[in-house]
Amino acid sequence: MESPVPGYLADVLDSSAAFADGAVADYIPELAGVDPDRAAIALATVDGTVYAQGDADAVFTIQSMSKPFTYALALSDLGIDGVGEKVGVEPSGEAFNEISLEPDTGRPRNPMINAGAISTHGLVAGADAADRLRRILDFYSAFADRPLELDDAVAESELEEGHRNLAFGHLLRSVGNIEGDPVAVVEGYIRQCAAKVAVADLALMAATLANGGVQPRTGRRLLDQRIVRHVLSVMMSCGMYDAAGDWLTTVGIPSKSGVSGGIVGVLPGQVGLAVFSPRLDRHGNSVRGVKMMERLSEDMGMHVMEAARPARSAIRDVHRVDYRGEEATVYELHGDLVFSSTESLIRRLVEDPPATRRVIFDLDRVDEIEDVARRMAVSAGRSLLDDGHALTITDRNGVLGETDLPRETDA
Ligand code: GLN
Repeated sequence: MESPVPGYLADVLDSSAAFADGAVADYIPELAGVDPDRAAIALATVDGTVYAQGDADAVFTIQSMSKPFTYALALSDLGIDGVGEKVGVEPSGEAFNEISLEPDTGRPRNPMINAGAISTHGLVAGADAADRLRRILDFYSAFADRPLELDDAVAESELEEGHRNLAFGHLLRSVGNIEGDPVAVVEGYIRQCAAKVAVADLALMAATLANGGVQPRTGRRLLDQRIVRHVLSVMMSCGMYDAAGDWLTTVGIPSKSGVSGGIVGVLPGQVGLAVFSPRLDRHGNSVRGVKMMERLSEDMGMHVMEAARPARSAIRDVHRVDYRGEEATVYELHGDLVFSSTESLIRRLVEDPPATRRVIFDLDRVDEIEDVARRMAVSAGRSLLDDGHALTITDRNGVLGETDLPRETDA
């Protein structure tokens, strides 16, 4: 049997070919020379399968798609509050290279615009600038599951023309947002932007975020789940610069674009996506890339506000059985126990209380229990015991874990 996925991706790529407007970024001289007609698309699943189509071997610099990953590393080093003192999380509605800081605090508004990304780069721990850059590159490499390298020609070329980013560095230094030599921080940031990737690398990096911070191939946890949630939220609200609101309503996939023509997107719990085509629109986002992401979202139901399915009731069936010579009520549960599905179970117990003394909860078909649902279930069990019921819990897969609720009571 053949998988329909590669053919589908090839079709998405082909159907975007008609959108040939836009222009290759030329403010970085080395980028002006790329072949504008190269294009590629990749999708990586949370179990590490990668599908790539088009110019899948095209290597390009990561540019601003590096920003969420450096931000994640700074958050791991300093904590969410520590980073928050220096860089905000508010969408700026401005272009990526707008020169503006929050008037009262001097903080860049968010880490996805250049001012914020330079500040973030400076927050990453390291013995010196070189060590910081090495840690950042190692971090990206762990996400991509291969050693990534820098494109020195692109970095040097941007450094020569990097007056605007240098201006950010000096501005940030003048308000005390960054410490030490601002030129070294800007240089590090520009080098981080020159990490070389192909679409498959970006898709795997994104799939690691989709997978809650665990690299799907190596099984290594690279980020805390809480930090992943934070980074994805900022990508969702700020990742597409002044097109962020439009992106949220039409595509609805937390994403980050780069001036090399790539867009990386994360559908939590499902897939990492990457598209590449060098011609950019006036926001600095890839024209064909945007079209491909729109189609993926539309066809595959990948808008985050759509991808979340309504939780089913936790109750699969309620019936009576004979349990050791006594009639008992069995609540057969299934699926994932989250707040809403567990609430429906508890509502049933309250509105239609079990008529037998013994109550059996059968958790054998439950996949996972979230913390809030565990607490709710344990307190429901306690209150049944208080009402004089006897309790039996069957839990073949041990999903309930350690609780102080007895698995079997007599009285
Ligand atoms: N290195 C580029 C810059 O700082 C990255 C910008 C981008 O990809 N949007 O200008």
